[in-house]
Amino acid sequence: MSSPQSHERYSRQMLFAPVGAEGQRKLGASSVLIVGMGALGTVLANHMVRAGVGLVRFVDRDYVEASNLQRQMLYDEDDVRESMPKAMAAERKLKRINSSVRLEPVVADVTVENVERLLDGIEVVLDGTDNFQTRFLLNDACFKLGIPFVYGGAVGSRGMSAVFVPGATPCLRCLIQPGEGTAETCDRIGVLSPVVDISASYQAVEALKLLVGAVAVRRPTLISFDVWNNHHFEMKTGEPKPDCPTCGTREFPSLQQGAVDAASLCGRETVQLHVASSFDLTAWEERLSGLARVERNPFLLKAYLPEGERIVMFPDGRALVQGTEDPVRAKTLYARYIGM
Ligand SMILES: [Zn+2]
Repeated sequence: MSSPQSHERYSRQMLFAPVGAEGQRKLGASSVLIVGMGALGTVLANHMVRAGVGLVRFVDRDYVEASNLQRQMLYDEDDVRESMPKAMAAERKLKRINSSVRLEPVVADVTVENVERLLDGIEVVLDGTDNFQTRFLLNDACFKLGIPFVYGGAVGSRGMSAVFVPGATPCLRCLIQPGEGTAETCDRIGVLSPVVDISASYQAVEALKLLVGAVAVRRPTLISFDVWNNHHFEMKTGEPKPDCPTCGTREFPSLQQGAVDAASLCGRETVQLHVASSFDLTAWEERLSGLARVERNPFLLKAYLPEGERIVMFPDGRALVQGTEDPVRAKTLYARYIGM
């Protein structure tokens, strides 16, 4: 962090007095986890890596598709052509941006089973997800382990963000009940690219404050805005609810539930099934090649089924059935070609 080269690299950030040389040193010794490397996650990772955060771990279960390029700023047409998993495509790009940051890409679904391992050694967790199921899981894991969680969301022309710090603020569950806020998704009503950047940038600046220890200026509000209709709201997050099952009674409901085996992914004609514990892609390529057109790279296998749907298989045992939103249809095809 103290070489002349790094001094030059971070000079504008260090000239900003509240960061300074000491803040820059703290950033270099700090660690963040970004969950979801879609629109929010790529903006978050870009900021964290350019700012010189020492360790940036990021996790995503999906791969890059053409419809991502409008707003997911780290990806390009090569990533689409190669069907790169988002975490790997992001690593390739981020390495070129700042080679001194330790990058830890993880291609996986965040589950009850792996969430605490992903949070190991992490100082701040940044929400880049697109669903409340994962957000509540992160919220509960963060409050159990005492790690700040910076929430962000964007849909249509609206965005929001808030900071949740165990022991100091309420948690996400105090503000939003499970089941609320899930009606609209980007895949149904769309999203404008600038909204995502604004939401993620609010998150990124709060992460920087947390990492340099600027407690006094931490945002005490849930901020929300509509950039198309020119609205801007802030609501004080207030005090934790004493009967909150996460930060009050510490039952952590999302850590109690079993993993969901079939979940429709954000309404974009994809169902995820996580039944197997692993897939040997080489073996599956051979097995399926007589039945379907098969494409494979080191990270995933895609089978174009004669029925019209596609099955995408990952080494960690996950499968995406694409071309349907119906979990029953997805399970039928899964059972037909893979077996369950
Ligand atoms: Zn709470």
